[in-house]
This record gives sequence, C-alpha cells and structure tokens, in this order.
Amino acid sequence: MKRYLILGSGVAGRRAAKAIHRKSVDSEITIVEEQDNPFYARPMLGELFGRKTGAVQSAAKEKEQLSELGIKFKTGAKVKEVRLHEQTALLNTSELLFFDKMLIASGVRTTRLACDQGNSAGVVYMDRVEDIQALGSNIDAVRKAVVFGASYQAFGALKGLRSLGIDCSLVIPEERLWSQSLDVVASNILEQRLGQEKITVIKGANIEFLEQDADALRSVVVTGGKKISTDLLVVAAPQEPVLDYLTSGGLDTDRGILVDAGLKTSAQNIFAAGDVAQLSTESTVAPNAQAGWLRAWKQGNVAGENMVSGDVNVIYDGIPSIRTRVFDLDLVCLGLSRAEGEGIEAKSGDYPYEEMPYVYKKIIYKQGRGAGAIFLGDVNEAGAVEEWIRKGIPARECDQQVLDNMFKLQYKSSAAYGVLCPVCKFHMQIDNKAEEGAIITCPACGIDFKVERLPNGAFHAIPV
Ligand SMILES: Cc1cc2nc3c(=O)[nH]c(=O)nc-3n(C[C@H](O)[C@H](O)[C@H](O)COP(=O)(O)OP(=O)(O)OC[C@H]3O[C@@H](n4cnc5c(N)ncnc54)[C@H](O)[C@@H]3O)c2cc1C
Repeated sequence: MKRYLILGSGVAGRRAAKAIHRKSVDSEITIVEEQDNPFYARPMLGELFGRKTGAVQSAAKEKEQLSELGIKFKTGAKVKEVRLHEQTALLNTSELLFFDKMLIASGVRTTRLACDQGNSAGVVYMDRVEDIQALGSNIDAVRKAVVFGASYQAFGALKGLRSLGIDCSLVIPEERLWSQSLDVVASNILEQRLGQEKITVIKGANIEFLEQDADALRSVVVTGGKKISTDLLVVAAPQEPVLDYLTSGGLDTDRGILVDAGLKTSAQNIFAAGDVAQLSTESTVAPNAQAGWLRAWKQGNVAGENMVSGDVNVIYDGIPSIRTRVFDLDLVCLGLSRAEGEGIEAKSGDYPYEEMPYVYKKIIYKQGRGAGAIFLGDVNEAGAVEEWIRKGIPARECDQQVLDNMFKLQYKSSAAYGVLCPVCKFHMQIDNKAEEGAIITCPACGIDFKVERLPNGAFHAIPV
C-alpha cells in the first residue's frame, strides 16, 4: 500500500487528498496540520472581527467527508523537518512519518514588520483564525484601526472592522491599490468605494514605528513621519511562503517552491500546490496576483492525480488572477490586466458610466490576442474572457456578443449572470430569472449563499 503524506490541510491539501483517494482507494493518506482546528474558509476570516462565525466554520463539513474516506489527520502537529533522501517527515511531537510520495501545501504567512519588537499588544497578523480570536473581547474597546497592505486579507479585515463601526485607515506602500493588477481607473473606483465606507487610504507609505504600552497600541508612525493614533494594527501584507521545514534543503525554491505544470518539484516524489508553490513560468516578484483560493483548489486536484499516476497526466493551466470582493464589489483581474506599451491594445468602452459608478471592465490584447482583463462591480463575462486569455484567442475570433455585453450598456442579453462565490470566489452563473432571496450552493466550495439584486440589475451572493 502506497503512503501519501500531505503537509497542510488548507484547500490545496484537502483537494489533493480527495484526488488521491479517487484514483487509488486503497492507499494510505495522512494530512499533517499545525493548527488545532484548521477547518474554516480562509477568505472569510475578516468576518470574525464582526463575530460572524457561520461562514468561517463552513469548511468543517469537509473534515467529516475526508474522515469518511479514511483519510487520516494529525492536527496540532507541525512538520519540523522534511528529509527528502530518507522520505521522512519529522514532527514537533518527535514522531517520524515515512512516505512514498509527499505533497507540500503549507501556504503563506504575513511577513513580520521590521519595526515589530515582539509586543503583540494591539497588533494582529491576519493569517489564522486564532490570530483574530486572540483579540477576544478587546475588540469591543477598539475605536480606530489601521490596516496595512493591499491584499485579500486587508479588504476582508476592513469589511469586518467597519461592520463594528470602527474608524479605519488603509496604509499601502504602493501608489495604487493592487498595483500589480489594477490600472489607475480601477484603483480609483475602488478607492472611491472605500471612501464611501469612510476609509482613508494612505498611499506610498510603510509602517515605520509602533508606539505601544505593555498592553495597548497607541499609534503607528508611517513613512514621512505622519503619526496615526490607533487602537489596532492589522498587518495584511506582504505574504511569504511557509518553508521553515526545509532545513536540509534539497528543493529548488525562488519566491515559493518551484514546480512544473504537473506540480512536481525538483525532488523525486515530492509535489507542491497552492500558495506555497510557484510555477517556473510565474513571475519571481509578484506573489499576490498568483496566489488565491481557486488556484490552490485546482492545483490540489492536479497534484493529487499526478502523485498517483507518477507521471504528468494532467497539467495546471490556470492564468494569474485575482478574484475577490471588496465590500459589495466583485473584482476579477486576469492575466496581463495592467499591461501597457508596444504591442498592447486595451479596450474599456466608456467606463465608468454615470449610471453605474462602480462598474468598470477592460480587455487587453497583446500582439492581437486576448492577454488580460479587469472586471469590477460586474463580473458577468469573466468566465468567457478567461478562456480567451488562457487560450490566447485572436481578437477577431472573440465573441462579439460577449464584448457587446461588456462594453455597451444597452446590451444585457445573456440568460445568466456571473457572480463570485462569497467564500471561494469561484465564478458562477446565476439564471437571470433567479428570485431575490433564492438559496444556491457553490459548486466549488459547497457553501450556501443567498441571491440578492444590486441596483444595476446584476446579482450578488451573500453567505447564509
Ligand atoms: C483573510 C483572507 C482572505 C482571503 N480572501 C481571498 C479572496 O478573496 N480570493 C482568493 O482567491 N483568495 C483569498 N484568500 C487566499 C486564499 O484563502 C488562499 O489562497 C488559499 O487558502 C491557499 O490555500 P493553501 O491550501 O495553499 O494554503 P493554506 O490555506 O494557507 O493552508 C496551508 C496549511 O498548512 C499548514 N502548515 C503550514 N506549515 C506547516 C507545518 N510545518 N506543519 C504542519 N502544517 C503546516 C497551515 O497551518 C495551513 O493550515 C484569502 C486569505 C485570507 C487569509
């Protein structure tokens, strides 16, 4: 019986376990996971600030499914060292696990601030459920918060904190929001939406100094010397891959563990998937636009299948993308969404329209082929356009009906609306005739959500 060991029980690890079981029912599959209770949907962490735990617990049902398949879990156990030549993993409990094949799916964590002296009073790194739970009832005393970084985590935190009526500022080192993926127009629209939520955005700044007592944060000082009085600092970027168990080396790494399209690493019998993995074709400097829930979900499947076959049977052919929701605005950025210069042609209609101030769409062609896109506020056509980009379809072959729907207000002829799942941000189609309040289940992550209509007629999905 083959022994499969999976490091990390996030979405990549769980999907891989299922794929291995599907292909090889009799194999022994063990998932080692550092957290005691890792079964929660990472993208819903921000909701915890507002004490909404329902959606965060939604992944718990997957634990039962995996246990029913005979997949073993070692939770609360950290892999201290992976010994590639011995094909063993040493746990912090001193247990030594042998494997025939291993998947590394250890994800990323938020980089510690250079000015952080280790006093955690009023400082939260937004990685895990316990990071937020540790605040406990102290959150009731928080009146002002600073969130650092433009990332998935940051927007989740801002939404949760604003739901409690806390005054928020967002500090970002870049000159625009999600600078690797958004153009100026899209960034400005998002900033406007944040302004509507009374969130101040401070751009081009880092957190340089924390003014703390033993048990409270008083203020943060940002680049240029500006002091912001605050009770809470949420650090939400940048992220770095979790690799500390690779003490004996042996794997090629760059910004993450380098893998080929079949998710194989440079070492025999070792695969990597999800946020910790970096395809050799992916940029060495732009992690944000390449990590994400759906990428991890798909890669888990691919890695699991290939681990069983021992060959590259299936490949991961996803394109770099951001899929998220900023307050009520769905956002999808695909491929070279911000490209400019020679050989690049961009089309964005007359957006933003007065009638739909928070809607913006743009498609980019590189040397006459679909190469990138931005959808903000209405992601209806994102699924179709993603396929054009993935396949590099020539502009003349792109479906004119889809382009009309994107750029001409009077066209809204499709029979279904695209929305993002509120948890995993999977792009789904909802029938135009769906009723307000209807409950639908996401085909990717299995969460139930409620359908709501936005003022512009588009649908919106809300977790129940
Ligand atoms: C607040 C928040 C909001 C987000 N919003 C979005 C969004 O809107 N859209 C989107 O696409 N993505 C979003 N993401 C990102 C998305 O959740 C991740 O891309 C995805 O969960 C990555 O899955 P993974 O399996 O690769 O890693 P993870 O889910 O991070 O799982 C890795 C696991 O490995 C475990 N581990 C690490 N080291 C060890 C060790 N040595 N031993 C044992 N276990 C170990 C960790 O405890 C962890 O459980 C968000 C993330 C957060 C935190």
